Amino acid sequence: MLILGIESSCDETGVALIDSSLGLLAHRIHTQIDMHRAFGGVVPELASRDHIRRVLALTDEVLEEAGRSRGDLTAVAVTEGPGLAGALLVGVSVAHAIGYALGLPVIGVHHLEGHLLASLLADPAPRFPFVALLVSGGHTQFMRVQRFGSYELLGETLDDAAGEAFDKTAQLLGMCYPGGPAVSALAEKGRPGAFEFPRPMIHSPDLNMSFSGLKTAVLNTVTKAEHPEDPQFRADVARGFVDAVTDVLTAKAVRALKKTRLSSLVVAGGVSANKQLRAALTAAVEARRGKIFFPPLALCTDNGAMIAVAGLKRLEAMTEEEREACRHRLAFTAKPRWTLTEAAHPDGAA
Ligand code: ATP
Ligand code: MG
Ligand code: FE
Repeated sequence: MLILGIESSCDETGVALIDSSLGLLAHRIHTQIDMHRAFGGVVPELASRDHIRRVLALTDEVLEEAGRSRGDLTAVAVTEGPGLAGALLVGVSVAHAIGYALGLPVIGVHHLEGHLLASLLADPAPRFPFVALLVSGGHTQFMRVQRFGSYELLGETLDDAAGEAFDKTAQLLGMCYPGGPAVSALAEKGRPGAFEFPRPMIHSPDLNMSFSGLKTAVLNTVTKAEHPEDPQFRADVARGFVDAVTDVLTAKAVRALKKTRLSSLVVAGGVSANKQLRAALTAAVEARRGKIFFPPLALCTDNGAMIAVAGLKRLEAMTEEEREACRHRLAFTAKPRWTLTEAAHPDGAA
């Protein structure tokens, strides 16, 4: 089976081709970061228009790179939600148009299910069941994933997402969006312990988290500094911030494994690309003789490959009638607001 995956929920157009036996054949990501930079954030209407310009060209590029043609496709998978309404509509409409023209099933995928299953493209790939830590720009959640399609929320951030905290810290230190990679690189030059920032909720017995107090602590430190532009000061603040986020996520991840008595941890979402976080989580999980899995580095932030792999899993789990129902008609439209637990499959199997 050959699946075309399309992601357009925010400011990245991602397109990929996955072959059910050969794996990922090709993927392309076009990011709109430079386009939105001048406005200090993502402008929804500009995002939608840019997705329209890119998506078919990227589709042709992945087909060419893989040496396949549209006629070889078995199905189209597309991000159904959550995300920006207009941006999602571009991907969903294009997917339906391709599906209608070629008589293919069109499968709607939850964006977070995509993030969560991106590590199926890593080698070795995780096996169910596992605890998933989803750390992205909009979410910080622990999930119990008993099997494909079964997502139980164990705990989440009560305010900011970890990625958002990275982006705000970057901004305070005078760096552009997305701040994650920049803060991470700066932190490498920082001295451990130079700034001890709070680790909110680290001792609470649940699996909830909070990152807004940490952001305020960074803000206060930067505002009070005599020389906030001093390179060593900036590096020390970045280091203090990264260490605090890493400590909280690591402590909570260990707690999640203990609570669920599971031994595998799958980390997903943009922040799972973070070097320091990867190292700390790996050490903690291995100390418990557990297994840890991350998506390939290029597939941590938004991309089409994670949507294609989630679509493939859905397709494999469908009956022939269910596949037929996804064909020839507009079976769904974009869902800007949609939680992963709402998207869990009816019987947890598929
Ligand atoms: P969501 O998936 O929750 O809807 P999103 O799609 O905007 O949100 P992602 O694309 O998964 O989020 O991730 C983007 C986030 O990841 C940004 O906040 C960015 O700063 C962060 N990020 C990317 N690389 C790194 C890194 N190396 N270290 C820390 N954070 C990072
Ligand atoms: Mg993005
Ligand atoms: Fe995302």
